[in-house]
Amino acid sequence: MIPVVALVGRPNVGKSTLFNRFTHTRDALVANFPGLTRDRQYGQAEYGRFQFIVIDTGGITGDEQGIDAHMAAQSLTAIDEADVVMFMVDARAGVTAADQMLADHLRKLQKTVYLVANKTDGIDADSAVAEFYSLALGPVYQIAAAHGRGVSSLLEKTFEPI
Ligand code: GDP
Ligand code: MG
Repeated sequence: MIPVVALVGRPNVGKSTLFNRFTHTRDALVANFPGLTRDRQYGQAEYGRFQFIVIDTGGITGDEQGIDAHMAAQSLTAIDEADVVMFMVDARAGVTAADQMLADHLRKLQKTVYLVANKTDGIDADSAVAEFYSLALGPVYQIAAAHGRGVSSLLEKTFEPI
């Protein structure tokens, strides 16, 4: 069975950028404002020796109304469909209330969750990601989806047990 990986996290953390990297497409719209991806988007990922299905989601803000509620519901469905969840956070922004809310949800599930701190390019990544250990989801994987930094090691780790 080909594994299914869901990319979840609040808007603007870089989920669609990572989706495009995994699928070698520009199918997911990337923009400098939140909320661009409203529905789940499925892609066939091929990265190094790994093949999987990847699901991009709109994101969860923790303060859902209207279209945001729709985006949040889509994210929860994606989590449900996935074998592995990549919970993405923004290393530059630090821990937000939405990150905490989603972490609380993910900790309760019987799912394999990898906590992925994106946008670690051009910053002191080790000190930037230190605070994300407070989300109590285990190790924090450092990547820069826009440049590919850390993406191979993340996948090595993700697929090691599968
Ligand atoms: P999404 O809302 O979670 O899907 O986030 P997007 O993929 O649309 O990215 C949001 C913004 O973050 C865009 O302006 C991206 O170019 C930027 N971004 C994504 N990945 C990186 C990264 O690794 N480093 C930096 N510096 N910016 C990034
Ligand atoms: Mg997006």
